[in-house]
Amino acid sequence: MTTKIWANSGDSHVMEPSDVWTSRLPGPLAERAPRAVKDDRHETVFVDGETVFRTLNAFAEDARAPGSFDPRLRLLDLDAEGVVNQVLFPSMGLWAYRIRERTLFREVARAYNDWIAEEVMTVSPRFVGVAMMPMVSTEDAIAELQRVAALGFKAVMLATTSPEGREYHLDVWEDFWAAAAEADVTLSFHVGTGADPRMFRGPGAVVINYVETFIPGQRTVSLLTASGALDRHPGLRVFIAEGGASWVPALADRMDEGYRQHGRYAEPKLSRLPSEIIYSQVFASFQHDRSAVPAFEAMSYPNVLWGDDYPHLEGTFGHTQETLHALFGAVSEETAEQVLRKNFDRMLGTTVRSAA
Ligand code: MN
Repeated sequence: MTTKIWANSGDSHVMEPSDVWTSRLPGPLAERAPRAVKDDRHETVFVDGETVFRTLNAFAEDARAPGSFDPRLRLLDLDAEGVVNQVLFPSMGLWAYRIRERTLFREVARAYNDWIAEEVMTVSPRFVGVAMMPMVSTEDAIAELQRVAALGFKAVMLATTSPEGREYHLDVWEDFWAAAAEADVTLSFHVGTGADPRMFRGPGAVVINYVETFIPGQRTVSLLTASGALDRHPGLRVFIAEGGASWVPALADRMDEGYRQHGRYAEPKLSRLPSEIIYSQVFASFQHDRSAVPAFEAMSYPNVLWGDDYPHLEGTFGHTQETLHALFGAVSEETAEQVLRKNFDRMLGTTVRSAA
């Protein structure tokens, strides 16, 4: 490892301070916003009056990076790891996608978006915050999308598992897709949001449950493509974060086969093949996968981008350079440039001007 490989990260996370909602919302709403109760070994997450998750203290692991909570210290971590810019998703806020009550979701999202805009994005142009979208009402989602677009957000986030009765192929979302295309804002979907990953127990459960988290993102691409949502809005960009990238060509093939062989029955008709829609509008990020560069080079899927998943346990903090050298040390400069740097800007539909 002689030279440092610099990369943009399409998938990173803030760690919210524990008072992010309690300091910004009135008591009755603050009580039902996501919060964690921790002891030495365990952590229990509460949201919207429910206990949604109990685990070993994973967030203690996530706090090991010095800049986890402090954006100024985070810049030092980025420099050390070789990361230029980061797209920032929430951590505790991932649990907000379990909220079922309209007002609570609208206000939790608004408070989070104001917090990340004021406390994180102002620190450096290297931090590209993703705005949280409320999911219960399309009208509320459109209002928040337009508000955050005016604040300068380039990407918004929806649950990867769409809500029952409001799945993403249904017309209830059409006005939101139109508003996102109009605002030129990327629709992003991060693994593990909107539903419990199916909890298997017993032999292999840790890895089995990890696999479960990458399936809903694939379903989302299927719903948005087959329903014609992406075809109707050809400028709309979709980003599936932290689910890997090499499944995308396989899904595109599967959809082409279904559309071609069952085409007589397929409604709506599409103006392009599913694979053409997906290859032009769907982006996907990976951290460690050996199959991601071949998906880009050998399968010609152009929208592969890398993410460090900082500071989460699944990410590359502490071994970013080792990972980047292993995956990109022997590839062409053109591939490295596209996957590690340019696709970040293409996914966001803008050029992020870095201070680095
Ligand atoms: Mn992530």
